[in-house]
Amino acid sequence: MEKIYDTAIVGGGIAGYTAALTAKNLLLDYIWLGEEGFGEKLRLAEKVTNFPTLIGSGSDFSAALKEQMAAEELILTPRRVEGIYFMGGAYSLTSGGETFTAKTVILATGVEARGAIRGEKEFLGRGVSYCAVCDGALYRGKRVAAVLTNKKFEEEAEYLAKFAQKVYCVCLYENPTITGEKFSVLREWPVAVEGGMRVERLAFKEHTISVDGVFFLKNSAPPESLAFGLKTEGAHVAVGRDLSTNLPGLFAAGDITGRPYQYAKAAGEGCVAAHSVKTYLRALQKK
Ligand SMILES: Cc1cc2nc3c(=O)[nH]c(=O)nc-3n(C[C@H](O)[C@H](O)[C@H](O)COP(=O)(O)OP(=O)(O)OC[C@H]3O[C@@H](n4cnc5c(N)ncnc54)[C@H](O)[C@@H]3O)c2cc1C
Repeated sequence: MEKIYDTAIVGGGIAGYTAALTAKNLLLDYIWLGEEGFGEKLRLAEKVTNFPTLIGSGSDFSAALKEQMAAEELILTPRRVEGIYFMGGAYSLTSGGETFTAKTVILATGVEARGAIRGEKEFLGRGVSYCAVCDGALYRGKRVAAVLTNKKFEEEAEYLAKFAQKVYCVCLYENPTITGEKFSVLREWPVAVEGGMRVERLAFKEHTISVDGVFFLKNSAPPESLAFGLKTEGAHVAVGRDLSTNLPGLFAAGDITGRPYQYAKAAGEGCVAAHSVKTYLRALQKK
């Protein structure tokens, strides 16, 4: 029989970390899904002067977390979640052909520094996608653009080339290494997704390219593209004081819930969200 966790924590940054640590201390049966290394934002900080007890850089922060993680025997399952679906009273989380099931979810996937471009949200599901693995096969024989914010997404662009006739790789980072006859590499920021009923073009400042689909491959996709029906306010998930969202048993923590974008706020919310999960599950049991 498939295992059903008490909670699935999505996101390997400081909010997800603290949620997992608190869940463990509350004796919740958790699964923590995210990338190893506590997130790029933490690793990149040159100097952190506003987090209790920490004197040093983001790498020092990361090293301290790694040590605590080992001491507390916290387990991270290194997966990128592609979709979160509420079915039969529990959440199914999909990742590369695998599915994880949990009674509740804590979403701690952060926010992208640069927001969506014009047309990006409007064409979601009509040619715009945030997941090559989920939607790549829909573009067999077609022309697509893949907007990559990080080298690590080159693998996803290569996956698209298995289906598409042509992949325009818009590489927004230094030294892209993607090669192959199906690829054209562009090194400029796109400004808009354009079209009619569906995507027809990706526009740059001074030219456009004709495409059938645009994949935005970034660290933090808009939350509503992960969990259908999730209520947002701008780039953030709408939450109550207990960090509950409009979806039953789905909580959010960290940058994803809004400003200030700070480690201490993200860590605090990770803790609150795990406590809210405990309260929610207790109430469910009494029903
Ligand atoms: C250069 C820099 C310096 C900073 N310096 C400071 C500072 O000195 N002090 C301070 O208080 N704050 C600082 N910040 C802000 C701080 O980094 C953020 O507030 C904090 O990292 C937010 O934590 P988070 O866990 O909410 O999100 P993030 O750190 O963004 O973590 C989210 C994680 O979720 C992952 N993720 C996204 N989608 C998925 C998915 N579908 N499946 C699995 N995982 C996913 C992401 O890859 C990422 O690892 C700095 C930020 C930057 C960029």
